[in-house]
Amino acid sequence: MKVLVPVKRVLDYNVKPRVKADGSGVDLANVKMSINPFDEIAVEEAIRLKEKGAASEIVAVSIGEAKAQETLRTALAMGADRAILIVAEGEVEPLGVAKLLAKVVEEELPGLVILGKQAIDDDSNQTGQMLAALLNWGQGTFASKVEIDGDVAKVTREVDGGLETVSLKLPAIVTTDLRLNEPRYASLPNIMKAKSKPLAQKTPADYGVDVTPRLKTLKVVEPAKRQAGVKVADVDELIGKLKTLGVVA
Ligand code: AMP
Repeated sequence: MKVLVPVKRVLDYNVKPRVKADGSGVDLANVKMSINPFDEIAVEEAIRLKEKGAASEIVAVSIGEAKAQETLRTALAMGADRAILIVAEGEVEPLGVAKLLAKVVEEELPGLVILGKQAIDDDSNQTGQMLAALLNWGQGTFASKVEIDGDVAKVTREVDGGLETVSLKLPAIVTTDLRLNEPRYASLPNIMKAKSKPLAQKTPADYGVDVTPRLKTLKVVEPAKRQAGVKVADVDELIGKLKTLGVVA
């Protein structure tokens, strides 16, 4: 079974985002970019399935500017077999990404697509669900455990009330939650080896997909600054302050 893993290049999770002076978006000039953390978990899960013999080939795919090649090389260094880069300048919205992925699926015929549950830049949490709808495939979102048994994937999902287990007929879509696994670090020899793994380059036009944005960002602002807290000597003072603030009667 082939596994397709879409990976997005995003602002590194350790970097504090800066909003551009004109409020048009987040400033990405000269900041560290990395593989979206949930996608790293998706790559790890695909590798584990391959190690268990449930997957035969792992194909990583990224949509974005030419530099997204680095993100794909990270996936290849972890253990993906080959990669596809669909070069698109500017932001491609989840629907555009899902339409492109649907075309890649048509070509590659994977048994499973493992995506991150969300990209930490736009926090959309939409692409996996849209892809499942476009393909008319079953979906197991927010997965904390994935087991393959013949042509069925058993996916344990993190839902508000606890854990829910769903059974999906393959081919299917899975999106990863944080507790699914702990991704491995790529070793130096594997980073070197990844440089010679195949990486195909495409454009949205090759797939006949129009990725023109459907949404317009009106304004991006920094979150309001939190006010400094105060230290209280004891519970009585705390209750007194809460009463003054009207938090308790
Ligand atoms: P989102 O719906 O934007 O929160 O993204 C959810 C998941 O879709 C991500 O974790 C990735 O697996 C995948 N994805 C989103 N955008 C891209 C992209 N430009 N290239 C590759 N994968 C993407």
